Amino acid sequence: MSAPLIDPFQRAITYLRLSVTDRCDFRCVYCMSENMQFLPKKDLLTLEELDRLCSAFIRMGVEKLRITGGEPLVRRGIMTFFNGMARHLESGALKELTLTTNGSQLEKFADDLYAAGVRRVNISLDTLDETKFAEITRWGRLPQVLRGVDAAQKAGLRVKINAVALKDFNEEELFDLQSWCAERDMDLTFIEVMPMGDIGNENRLGQYWALDDLRARLAERFTLTDLAERTGGPARYMRLEETGQKIGLITPLTHNFCESCNRVRVTCTGEIYTCLGQEGKSDLRAPLRASEADAPLEEAIRAAIGLKPKGHDFDYSRQELGGQMSRHMSHTGG
Ligand code: SAM
Ligand code: SF4
Repeated sequence: MSAPLIDPFQRAITYLRLSVTDRCDFRCVYCMSENMQFLPKKDLLTLEELDRLCSAFIRMGVEKLRITGGEPLVRRGIMTFFNGMARHLESGALKELTLTTNGSQLEKFADDLYAAGVRRVNISLDTLDETKFAEITRWGRLPQVLRGVDAAQKAGLRVKINAVALKDFNEEELFDLQSWCAERDMDLTFIEVMPMGDIGNENRLGQYWALDDLRARLAERFTLTDLAERTGGPARYMRLEETGQKIGLITPLTHNFCESCNRVRVTCTGEIYTCLGQEGKSDLRAPLRASEADAPLEEAIRAAIGLKPKGHDFDYSRQELGGQMSRHMSHTGG
């Protein structure tokens, strides 16, 4: 083990979110424009490089690894990577290996993921209406994703549904989504839409539905108990007493959570972003490729963590996109 990663604000970095591809089989309107320019394949880290990179982070104290994208399960050969990470679960160095997915490929991969040691999966799903699903994802088809949800549960994976809260889109589906998750014993988390990247003609402020309002609507029908549980991340949780289910709210806009941040993000080209809401990044690909030894890589990781900023500046309060990021969510992985 190397010395743990501690940032300038004394936060221990124990959680890595790794984007393994910027490509996706969907084009969600809040995430991508219809015509996206993807990175040349040669710029991507190879599966072996992804393994070396994650292994270095794990040596330096990362205990939780979330694989994301783009759509992580469209990366060719991705199961080789997951199977490789299983050794860190077996050694006990890694406590959790998980992923965030749009669910489209889960029918194919759920059993293999479970076999590799994955126990929980976040599936992004904003609506249960087939027509609206096609509209919001542009290229996605709801039945395929629902088969993926079934396959995940059948494989033994604990499922959490992530829904982006979208004004005039899934507002009226709040209770449908909630009761569907309750029936299937799945946790549910809502996310406020964030100003990430150019999304063509879509209007972000028009999409934004504040979660304080969503919470108030839930409170009209249920008794809500706030849970003290924190994951070091942006979600706050509450329990609906009548159903016993747990609902999470990810509120980057209305509530700041940076003081407890324990995470960093690495893109599929090896850029490390130590804050989702800041442009600052460092390159890990050059040190990774410069030497077969891991010392330069570890040094670069430590230097990057040494620059982790205090927090983000997202702000819609002046009816403009404060803190807008030039990169898309699919670039850093959300
Ligand atoms: N493709 C996978 C998926 O959709 O789950 C993983 C990557 S996706 C970028 C990760 C999460 O980011 C998804 O839950 C998606 O809904 C969310 N997301 C994308 N763009 C967003 C935005 N502008 N604001 C808030 N959440 C966003
Ligand atoms: Fe793809 Fe996920 Fe972005 Fe939708 S949110 S376009 S599924 S990366």
